[in-house]
Amino acid sequence: MSKAFNPVLSGLPTTIFETMSRLAREHEAVNLGQGFPDDPGAPDIRAKAAEAVISGSNQYPPMMGIPELRQAAAAHYKRHQGLELDPDSEIMVTSGATEAIAGALFALIAPGDEVVLFEPMYDAYLPLVLRAGGVPKFVKLKPPHWRFSADDLAQAFSPRTKLVLFNNPLNPAGTVCPPEDLTMLAHFCMAHDAIAVCDEVWEHVVFDGVRHQPLIAFPGMRERTVKISSAGKIFSLTGWKVGMVMAAPNLMRVLAKAHQFLTFTTPPNLQVAVAYGLGREDAFFDAMRRDFQEARDYLAKGLTDLGFSVLNSRGTYFLNIDIAPLGESDDAEFCQRLVRDIGVAAIPVSAFYAEDPVKTIVRLCFAKKRATLDAALERLARLKV
Ligand code: GLN
Repeated sequence: MSKAFNPVLSGLPTTIFETMSRLAREHEAVNLGQGFPDDPGAPDIRAKAAEAVISGSNQYPPMMGIPELRQAAAAHYKRHQGLELDPDSEIMVTSGATEAIAGALFALIAPGDEVVLFEPMYDAYLPLVLRAGGVPKFVKLKPPHWRFSADDLAQAFSPRTKLVLFNNPLNPAGTVCPPEDLTMLAHFCMAHDAIAVCDEVWEHVVFDGVRHQPLIAFPGMRERTVKISSAGKIFSLTGWKVGMVMAAPNLMRVLAKAHQFLTFTTPPNLQVAVAYGLGREDAFFDAMRRDFQEARDYLAKGLTDLGFSVLNSRGTYFLNIDIAPLGESDDAEFCQRLVRDIGVAAIPVSAFYAEDPVKTIVRLCFAKKRATLDAALERLARLKV
């Protein structure tokens, strides 16, 4: 064939997560790259899904999601984040947060619209923005604090800004955006009449007593924010790919148009189990946070003891190490060596930048059993820091 395929998609490399997981398998490495827990997940929630496969419906559920899940989500977000959401007109179930993000970008961006993106950004964002015809405007965040200033925002926003795609807590940085920065971002959105598409999949995975503050709850943001959540992250079941989208009815109507032709629906049995899980008591979510926080501390201490320079992590499954003190200046090359020679897979953070990347930060997933972390630390000791 001589005709060109879609230029955005055909030019893309395979995602760094898939690439590193494949290398991890090839080299029998301990995989601290792609972010997924190695615990099987809550037995009661998995049992609900299994029971619903056998005894429940396996036909198309309603396009917006089963009512049971939309009601459970409304109750969950009222209880945990003080949000008032109408389950009929303001909540939609998608096949994972990535579908929700893609749908929001396709539904809201008109070709030529400017889209503000914060780097490091999750690798799906930029191709989806470009595929929708958006013109990216980057705000570059740098370690160790990864924060933005009013000047940074002023440079990225313009009268052509249609939307901001914002991830908080931030993968890969492991940071939680301080409330004063959220207020500043809200002001910029309002001043430029921009929509905020908020990828908040890590909202429950926060540590050190931090509480997640959704941008949609900030003054003036209720009508211009799309909040995106992930059952995979809430319940540490990343393969389930059940996402939830929350937005005011006028936004939701157009988001639903994108969803109807992307996936249309999401497996009903998983929705039943997620509805059940969202109603679990606070202690359930506290225990999840406590376990991951202990794993974070365990890996951070092990790495520090080995001489690595570990950056703070307040949320997500990830912590970062700074490899500059090791005399390293190319994270991608370092991660290749790490997986091939040492047998540990990690993610080079430069993969989260479109241009002029930060190249001295490496992301490690701590959402693992102690034995997995021990095996990784034992191998990393061979690096002789
Ligand atoms: N969210 C996961 C991570 O950051 C990756 C998911 C994927 O592989 N698409 O590691």
